Amino acid sequence: MTRKVLVLGEVRDGSLRNVSFEAIAAAKTTAEGGEVVGVLIGNSVNALSGELIQFGADRVVTIEDEKLKQYTPDGYSQAIMAVIDAEKPEGLIFGHTALGKDLAPKIAAKLNSGLISDVTALEVAGGNLVFTRPIYSGKAFEKKIVTDGLIFATIRPNNISPLEKGESRTGEVSSLSVDIKDLRTIIKEVVRKASEGVDLSEAKVIVAGGRGVKSEEGFSPLQELAKVLNGAVGASRGACDADYCDYSLQIGQTGKVVTPDLYIACGISGAIQHLAGMSNSKVIVAINKDPEANIFKVADYGIVGDLFEVVPMLTEEFRKLLV
Ligand code: FAD
Repeated sequence: MTRKVLVLGEVRDGSLRNVSFEAIAAAKTTAEGGEVVGVLIGNSVNALSGELIQFGADRVVTIEDEKLKQYTPDGYSQAIMAVIDAEKPEGLIFGHTALGKDLAPKIAAKLNSGLISDVTALEVAGGNLVFTRPIYSGKAFEKKIVTDGLIFATIRPNNISPLEKGESRTGEVSSLSVDIKDLRTIIKEVVRKASEGVDLSEAKVIVAGGRGVKSEEGFSPLQELAKVLNGAVGASRGACDADYCDYSLQIGQTGKVVTPDLYIACGISGAIQHLAGMSNSKVIVAINKDPEANIFKVADYGIVGDLFEVVPMLTEEFRKLLV
């Protein structure tokens, strides 16, 4: 059965986030040959439509309004509901990002629809669309099918590969005029706590530090390594609780869930709550001076040693290879 599927393009600092392109790929599978419509919301987002089309959207609908300059659940839900009303889609795909996690349940409730959140894989099997999502903090996976009504899912960043970019792809871009009613939420200021550079939840490489890093300064060698690998720095809650870094870097059950291609855990013991946030990384390297540390159970490569000796050595070697 073919479907029309809407994909929310997520914009940050004037650029589309990668998860938007991954969402288009998921929408293509969901559409089963039907139409994929990108949706862009903001106050000057028209220029980004072409990129959504190059990554596979058949056409794009934009909603521009000064009131939509910053994300608010109130403003965005008014905009999205207007597109849904105009397009009558059979599927909706958002990123499982801070924005998606906030907005999708609100829209699902408004539509009286179900929502499959945090999808890590999607396939057509036995004539059904099968969505895979982790449960029990990533210790098991469940498979879901939708038997009736709207298919609505949020997809975890870095799990579903985007389609190859096609510079020559073309598609219609239209704008929808929506009368955004007064917003109940007013954003006065956006304060960035995370370090500048690569976004932790979309990073392909993460160098994470734990209590073994011992101080705020102890994160410097990790930052160096992350820089050479064009990655982001993350942390265990142990390191955050000890005030070595900001909580925005925390990875785990009560922090961010990440799935990079390479996760380098430095001085992290591997508590179950930490593993919940990173054990689905494609390759895990653990550096710990305790050979019995639990982190080695999930690591593909383990280095037993002092991180303050091992990390600078790795940085040097990668620098020779990459810079
Ligand atoms: P530790 O367990 O103290 O481990 C430090 C490690 O560093 C040790 O293995 C040690 O051998 C090694 N080490 C020390 N010096 C060096 C050195 N020089 N070189 C190499 N290795 C060295 N934790 C999270 O991370 N994320 C979460 O989201 C999270 N959520 C939680 C939710 C709840 C409800 C609870 C109860 C706990 C949660 N925790 C979470 C905390 C978790 O249980 C652990 O306490 C925490 O992950 C431990 O952090 P750590 O591995 O950095 O510290």
